[in-house]
Amino acid sequence: MNLIENADLVRQQVETVRNKANRQDQVNVIAVTKYVDVATTEALVKTGIQHIGENRVDKFLEKYQALKEYELTWHLIGSLQRRKVKDVINFVDYFHALDSVKLAQEIQKRAEHPIKCFLQVNISGEESKHGFAPDELDDVLAEIAQLDKIEIVGLMTMAPFEASQEELQDIFSKTHQLQKQLEKKQLKNMPFSELSMGMSRDFEVAIANGATYVRIGTSFFK
Ligand SMILES: *Cc1c(COP(=O)(O)O)cnc(C)c1O
Repeated sequence: MNLIENADLVRQQVETVRNKANRQDQVNVIAVTKYVDVATTEALVKTGIQHIGENRVDKFLEKYQALKEYELTWHLIGSLQRRKVKDVINFVDYFHALDSVKLAQEIQKRAEHPIKCFLQVNISGEESKHGFAPDELDDVLAEIAQLDKIEIVGLMTMAPFEASQEELQDIFSKTHQLQKQLEKKQLKNMPFSELSMGMSRDFEVAIANGATYVRIGTSFFK
């Protein structure tokens, strides 16, 4: 594994699609470090990475504690059990997997300041995937609107592992349309300006469809 080469390659690929898609806004690369230890994460940070993502609470806290001296932005990207909210939520800069009203209520109870959250949506309707169906959102947003510790910065989605290029294009463009509709509503504490989608295997399609945060693991650490 050559971290410097891999990080350069990811940066190049992101820039290439960004330019091809005529994107003027920023695309933030979150390095998903769940596969590697603190030392490897630190080495990656030294290549210029600013955003770190973890999907498990224990691993998140381990890296957060060990790398406090760096100015990093910390993303919790995986589904979060309600009983673990209190251990982690106040250290999280962005939580990407808000997928139930009950979880939002638990965050409301434990947060000491407003928490930036992505609402996870499941556009493909795949049973195994977490996330809200688009037709649930009106009701869900009405409930979350009452929680002043929840700031909804945008939508997050994950495409099915086996999705074809056409399916990826379909899922990501529909998620983008939905994000733009919600942004227009200008709801209080819900700017909906961000779009978290794209992993190692599909980040190029995601960026072409408006992703502002991509979550990349494998491509850094192969
Ligand atoms: C692991 C993970 C990623 C990164 O996946 P790669 O295929 O390794 O790039 C992105 N998002 C979530 C929620 C993950 O759990």
